[in-house]
Amino acid sequence: MISVDRLRVRTNLLREMLRACCLCPRACGANRASGEQGFCGINGEVILSHALPHHGEEPAISGTRGAGTLFFSSCNLKCIYCQNHQISHGVTGRPSDGEALADVMIALQEKGCHNIELVTPTPHLPGILEGLTLATQRGLHIPVVYNCGGYEDTGVLGQLEGIVDVYLPDFKYGNDERAMRFSGVGDYVHQALTALREMLRQAGEEPLLEDGIVTRGLIVRHLVLPGAVENSFDALRLLRKHIPLTVPLSLMSQYTPMPPVAAHPDLGRRLSREEYDAVVDLALDLGFETLYIQDVDERHMAPDFRLEAPFQWL
Ligand code: SF4
Repeated sequence: MISVDRLRVRTNLLREMLRACCLCPRACGANRASGEQGFCGINGEVILSHALPHHGEEPAISGTRGAGTLFFSSCNLKCIYCQNHQISHGVTGRPSDGEALADVMIALQEKGCHNIELVTPTPHLPGILEGLTLATQRGLHIPVVYNCGGYEDTGVLGQLEGIVDVYLPDFKYGNDERAMRFSGVGDYVHQALTALREMLRQAGEEPLLEDGIVTRGLIVRHLVLPGAVENSFDALRLLRKHIPLTVPLSLMSQYTPMPPVAAHPDLGRRLSREEYDAVVDLALDLGFETLYIQDVDERHMAPDFRLEAPFQWL
């Protein structure tokens, strides 16, 4: 972690960006410092939905004691099928200042969590950095994991150098036509690939592990969607072209239809085993050296954020 003085400088710089928000590539220009809202619907506050030891991430993230996960409210993408739609499509949770966030981070470290995992952090970044600054002063020393949708601004990521240890982005789409239909952005592929290059620059091509837990590096996630195997094929071919094969790839089969897409012709059903296996086979053929894969079954794997413990099956 960089020094507290440098953390404060970065926090102020990111806070300045709230005056005409460009924290993500949507670049809404909303004056969030004055309470205006952009696409994500968050003003200048941090809204924390849940914080808990999370045992459902990749083994190198969750380990045996869990990731120390902070789920932030809302999102800069709001994909129509979002598995976390209860907290991502609206703003639900509690406003949390730097002190409150530092309390949560220190509590997760004291519970033995392997890291502090920030989920959908981008719209909340200035406040999160305040929390990290205070927590660092109080002895926070575990790695910081940045779990995001991949639609990130490279300049903003540059401000996270020396703060974030592990990047855990999605790479959702292999073509912009589908990104526009499902996430309402027409430049996902370019922005996400550019962001991946910056993450690689910071975190390195090969993850560093201690006792099986990643302490520095990049892990790319791809959620395989039903009826969209070609999208996954395109995404894998792009990744093969733009990132080294040493970067671990997490292929997720856990897609569960959420109420907003219950009647959608493709997104209204679970993924089939044949669809998932075809994507895994291509990833193997392309030579990715580390793959995280999942079973395909009928378990309901989507969290219920109305509950205090949203991951009841874990
Ligand atoms: S963080 Fe929110 S307000 Fe800022 S550019 Fe992105 S979507 Fe717009």
